[in-house]
Amino acid sequence: MRNLKALLKELPKLTFVNLLKALFAITVVATIGWLGGIFHVYQTIWTYLKILLQSQTPLWATISLLALSSLWLYLITSHKKTFRKSSGGTDLFSAMGVKWLVSYQHKSIIHFDENPFCPHHKTRMVGIRDSFVCPQDNCNFKISRQDLAFALTPAKNIVEALILEK
Ligand SMILES: [Zn+2]
Repeated sequence: MRNLKALLKELPKLTFVNLLKALFAITVVATIGWLGGIFHVYQTIWTYLKILLQSQTPLWATISLLALSSLWLYLITSHKKTFRKSSGGTDLFSAMGVKWLVSYQHKSIIHFDENPFCPHHKTRMVGIRDSFVCPQDNCNFKISRQDLAFALTPAKNIVEALILEK
């Protein structure tokens, strides 16, 4: 019982020291990682892990914190890389006389909004009876639902080609 009390007294101190150690390690790792890229991060993490393991108090809170920080760094770095590589986004594309709102990533269509946009304005057209009209006051542009149905497949092909050219 006494031993347990002594241990409990020691525990917060140990954890605090280790937490400080871990925070210091993470800061250094993060800074070097930020500057030197992911390869250096792993080298540095390995170096710090070795130091921590040799320092008598390799509490695994410290190690798991380091592992988490490396994972976090890896995730943001890889996310940034994919973001830079892909020419993804959402844009209006002109095809078959109207504009189409298309989301794309890695040169392929993710979502093709089949509701057309006015070619003169960037306005989503409104379906009224047998046609779609531009809701802008000074615009008379309209397209019949039949024409739109015929335009849809070629429009998708044209937009696909436009995305490939980007
Ligand atoms: Zn319009």
